Amino acid sequence: MATTTRGPVRVRFAPSPTGFLHVGGARTAIYNELMCLGARRDGAEAAHVLRIEDTDTARSSDAMTQQIVDALAWLGIEHDEGPFLQSERSTHHREAAEQLLAQGHAYHCFRSQEEVEAMRAEIVGRGENYTYRTAFERAPDDEVARRVEAGEPYAVRFRMPDGAIEFDDIVRGAMSFPPEALDDFIILRSDGSPTYHLSVVVDDIDMAITHVIRGEDHLSNTPKHIGLFRALEADEPTFCHLPLILGADKKRLSKRTGATSVEEFRDQGIVPQALYNYLAFLGWSPGDERELMSRDELIEAFDADRLRRTAAVFDIEKLRWMNANYMSILDLDEILRRLEPYVAEVGLTEHLGSERMARAVDVQRRRAKDLRELAGSLRPYFQDTLSYDAERWRKFIGQAELPAALEELMQRYAALDDYSIESTERVLRELATELEVKAGFLIHPTRVALSNDKAGPPLFDLVVAMGQEEGGRHLRNFVAFLHAERAVGG
Ligand code: GLU
Repeated sequence: MATTTRGPVRVRFAPSPTGFLHVGGARTAIYNELMCLGARRDGAEAAHVLRIEDTDTARSSDAMTQQIVDALAWLGIEHDEGPFLQSERSTHHREAAEQLLAQGHAYHCFRSQEEVEAMRAEIVGRGENYTYRTAFERAPDDEVARRVEAGEPYAVRFRMPDGAIEFDDIVRGAMSFPPEALDDFIILRSDGSPTYHLSVVVDDIDMAITHVIRGEDHLSNTPKHIGLFRALEADEPTFCHLPLILGADKKRLSKRTGATSVEEFRDQGIVPQALYNYLAFLGWSPGDERELMSRDELIEAFDADRLRRTAAVFDIEKLRWMNANYMSILDLDEILRRLEPYVAEVGLTEHLGSERMARAVDVQRRRAKDLRELAGSLRPYFQDTLSYDAERWRKFIGQAELPAALEELMQRYAALDDYSIESTERVLRELATELEVKAGFLIHPTRVALSNDKAGPPLFDLVVAMGQEEGGRHLRNFVAFLHAERAVGG
């Protein structure tokens, strides 16, 4: 298998800007990058080229190109050359078609799409195999010259070589396409525009691409491309076709089963490090127990021989699990920066940059699965008052000694010079001992006082994150609430 990467390695990521960057495309970009950087790691010269395949002018747009470039940058995927726009190279593609015509590797085809379709239907209807080259006779040269002269519309078709096309695919191994599967295909449309097959091969030749890494959906195009490489007397690159990504329904990942684009995951509050790691593992693994690997670690470990052949199922829960891990290990400053839009959504923008925001995020980030959830969990830290519900906290209202105990705790907290996790815990436990109650007698209502919730981060993390003054205010309010409810209760 031609997977050694000692010579120069040149790979390309070649998205069509007809939509947002799909996670399948992002994964292809990641493997291109890892192939390139893995080769560089091993001392080879290597380059990653970004080529935007925007020849489908009806469906491509500059805005989409920008989206893709931005999404790649957000994911941290780098390229060394480009972005090149394929549309700007069409003159060159046409020249290659002329060369193929002149050398007899291509021919003029005057048949309309309808004619071709009718013939296909008839042959397939007879239960026979259809390919263009067996279905039609080619027109003699003088007839061609006359019809071209007369201005008849024509397409240019590539003449597939006789015989099977064989190649070694890094993922799929030895591939062989028999002649009956090989069609003569159009390389220039009747309006003179080059088709994808021609453009991609001419560009790969010009850009000296050594490894074509792309989705399995292109596998059936590859014999066509090899035909072109050979006719253009260029070295064939090594091919690497990545298996599909499936949704939870085991069908090709699509909108039906949830988010599919990098942008959507970003907007959900997934951090790029998690998505990169997750996608890199969707079709590859290091062969050991590791699951959390940074880009640098992936570059260190990547080996194309370990790319898997079987389709991978996209598991959103696994991604969220990874995301939770990354949110707790990334630099706090980075988390704070990435959190900004979500903090704005929950109306806390004015607190960005504050000490309390940093403390609250640091406490809560270990408990949230995405940035949006994290931002939502910050609300209680910034509320002047919490409205306690008598029904929900009935148990505390019934405890006659509680208001005085909490009052005492509040005063001791207010008097602390070093308001820390250790000191607030010590003070609370000492008070519990003095009062001859279990620590829980103070811990649970203190949590409710500060967060209006019975679950959450470790209590003393919460106490400190809330701040001495704010926490004191909440405790005072909670004590007042207990008194009021006890008075009503009688
Ligand atoms: N532009 C093609 C696509 O987005 C990829 C072509 C290739 O990688 O050869 O599917």
